[in-house]
Amino acid sequence: MNKEQIVQTLKENPEILREILTKIPDGDLIDLLEQVFAERIPYPLEAKYCRSKYYLGLATSNDLREEEIDAPDWSEWEKGAVAYIDREEYPFGADPDTPYGEYGHCTKCNISVRSSVKHGICPICGRKVYMT
Ligand SMILES: [Zn+2]
Repeated sequence: MNKEQIVQTLKENPEILREILTKIPDGDLIDLLEQVFAERIPYPLEAKYCRSKYYLGLATSNDLREEEIDAPDWSEWEKGAVAYIDREEYPFGADPDTPYGEYGHCTKCNISVRSSVKHGICPICGRKVYMT
């Protein structure tokens, strides 16, 4: 099966692609989306006067209850962009199954970023972001 046939099969059977994207490790998904988002822009016709970019976000909310006897008391959503891995620091990639426990802030974009590694790349501007 050549590349065009694979693409046609996935177009006709989107459940296959959905299952692949659902089951691959998080790190592999981020790497894949980084490549896709590098080529695919939201507003290509306006590109001469409007920059646009897809990026992946992550939102979390914690249950504030001290005991689990009542309904959950959810905190406000904390939102952040998922950082790409800094390939200069991690030339062989990073553990694809580690959770997003590292937090940072891109001072250029003024956006919170999260990562599974200490050295990330802001998915919007490409600036290096150190996580704590
Ligand atoms: Zn940035």
